[in-house]
Amino acid sequence: SEKKPTNLNALADEFLRLSYHGLRAKDKSFSADFETDLDSNIPRVKVVSQDIGRVFLNLINNAFYACAERKRSLISEEEQINESYKPKVSVQSRLVELGGIDGVEICVKDNGGGIPKAIIDKIFQPFFTTKPTGSGTGLGLSLSYDIIKAHGGDLRVKSKEGEGTEMIIYLPIDSDFK
Ligand code: ADP
Ligand code: MG
Repeated sequence: SEKKPTNLNALADEFLRLSYHGLRAKDKSFSADFETDLDSNIPRVKVVSQDIGRVFLNLINNAFYACAERKRSLISEEEQINESYKPKVSVQSRLVELGGIDGVEICVKDNGGGIPKAIIDKIFQPFFTTKPTGSGTGLGLSLSYDIIKAHGGDLRVKSKEGEGTEMIIYLPIDSDFK
């Protein structure tokens, strides 16, 4: 697999739909809002598209999972009865400049339960998972981190318990391809 100029907006949109419909196929009772806010001015970026697609899928699957968990945890509680909690996942892209280098930032945002402070430093470690056996390998984020680093980029997390999580991918735009 080699790097090819890739439309990251199209890739993100594709994997958002794929993830949602994949989850729905496994659990018909699951539903969530999902939306994209993609900057159409973003040029193609030289990446290994299967690898970046895998990163998108990992992050988006985690986001929907967090929403589904939050919804489950509210069963029999007021929010659940009133259905005032509406799961939502969004993917945003924008052009950014970091240290004078043009890049693309892609954010995967959810309104799931968030990540407790006590574990946030561990989530990128291989095999770290809070999911029950069979539901998670704990490899998604460590693999995603390695893939993004191999592209000269960065992967960061912002999360607040009870509010949700934002995973922020930064990828530099290869300057010898425009
Ligand atoms: P897995 O999904 O197999 O557990 P990951 O490496 O993808 O492995 O994630 C590691 C852990 O990080 C998860 O088990 C979960 O505790 C936490 N996590 C990752 N993404 C989110 C998210 N969007 N919301 C809440 N927790 C998350
Ligand atoms: Mg995962």
